[in-house]
Amino acid sequence: MARDYYGILGVDREATEQEIKKAYRKLARKYHPDVNPSEEAAEKFAEISLAQEVLLDPSKRRIVDRGGDPMEQGGGAGAQGGFGGFGDIFEAFFGGAPGGGREPRSRVQPGNDALLRTAITLEEAFSGAQKEVTVDTAVLCDACEGTGSESKSAPVTCDHCQGTGVVQEVQQSFLGNVMTTRDCPKCRGFGEIISDPCRQCAGDGRVRAARDLTVNIPAGIASGMRIRMAGQGEVGHGGGPAGDLYVEVQTTPHPVFVREGDDLHLRVTVPMYDAALGTSVAVDNLAGGQTTVDVPAGTQPEERIVLDGEGMPRLRAQGAGNMIAHVRVAVPTELSQDERERLEALRDGHDASPAVASSSAGQGSGEEGFFSRVRDRFRR
Ligand SMILES: [Zn+2]
Ligand SMILES: [Zn+2]
Repeated sequence: MARDYYGILGVDREATEQEIKKAYRKLARKYHPDVNPSEEAAEKFAEISLAQEVLLDPSKRRIVDRGGDPMEQGGGAGAQGGFGGFGDIFEAFFGGAPGGGREPRSRVQPGNDALLRTAITLEEAFSGAQKEVTVDTAVLCDACEGTGSESKSAPVTCDHCQGTGVVQEVQQSFLGNVMTTRDCPKCRGFGEIISDPCRQCAGDGRVRAARDLTVNIPAGIASGMRIRMAGQGEVGHGGGPAGDLYVEVQTTPHPVFVREGDDLHLRVTVPMYDAALGTSVAVDNLAGGQTTVDVPAGTQPEERIVLDGEGMPRLRAQGAGNMIAHVRVAVPTELSQDERERLEALRDGHDASPAVASSSAGQGSGEEGFFSRVRDRFRR
């Protein structure tokens, strides 16, 4: 006899996909093995799961609507079962022979790794830092100490699947009847069940909780690098060992320095007179002090001044990169009458005059291009 799939879920024949899913979820909350470990509940849960599967599959639903049962042998479906059962057939062929097959899944599973991102300043990357982070992951349930059991007792063999973790069903397909195996709905493939699930974690052995951790950021770390904290990830199902926590560091853009590898680039703007005569510029460095950039007399626009060893410290190594100052020369745009006359006197005393160079000799533009390329790359 054809099962009343609509009746099982308590929906009418016009029910939409959403209504079917909603009805299923409502019933699943009542009969899920984690919530209700009784034998009747397991039976009911298997029934509603099947009803949902059938009604969400258009070809199977059509068979139901014609008064047939797509899950039953000779259930009026005939050849119309179509290709809907492909997955099951493959499972039947490759998923192991009936009766033999796979081991039940271990109820205790290792936990997943967790990833967390934290922003640091370039100063923190330069000096190294200790950073407080809040991690929201699965932790061991303290009520049941990870056993999942209210009385902390060991799980018992599932009586629905006799501990195999799977149940077998005969299904009809275009190749005839095939035996399929699927996860036991009562123990969800674990082969064992907890007879008194913990009220705090519903038998999972773990709960979500936020923890505060201190991360040691090593000096010289670059944006995008990950720091591994062993055993600080998620606790596994059934209180299984925790995965690792990875903290990915992202450096916030700095107002003065642009980092490339271990080098620190910056732009120094000097007045035309200083470029000609030479000067020194004090720069607030990342260590909290000052670094003096000596601009020699006769410095040209876009010239680079390299300060050896004044860049970022090398990560877990000796030494440091360089600080590289890109010089900009500021030409005055507003001159007083007096300044104009003095500049004219200087010019008249010089024999230099404008010259036209070949098109490839744009000396400054290469440097400019380099700097903007660096900045584009590091200030995404
Ligand atoms: Zn618990
Ligand atoms: Zn079972």
